[in-house]
Amino acid sequence: MKCDCCGRKKKLFESYVAIKYEDSRINLCAFCNDLAYKIRDDANNNDKELFEKHLEEWINRSKKKSDKFTKWQVEFIKKQKSIFNRMKMAQDKK
Ligand SMILES: [Zn+2]
Repeated sequence: MKCDCCGRKKKLFESYVAIKYEDSRINLCAFCNDLAYKIRDDANNNDKELFEKHLEEWINRSKKKSDKFTKWQVEFIKKQKSIFNRMKMAQDKK
């Protein structure tokens, strides 16, 4: 098994995370999965600085990404960015 993000091969005793996507699965190594979670948390915490930092790290890491991962990643990032926009709109109203 390979990580769909960084392309690293799974080693014995290493745990990879499977994400259901459309009718298949995306496999992520612990590190890539961790970054995705951090990005989601940064968006929820409205921490734009950390969000950009982790996003850059993630993009740099996903050099050997699969087509299916690419599609999922674009949707995932779009979703997190929309959280910022929603918060910005809420703040602008004040
Ligand atoms: Zn990985």
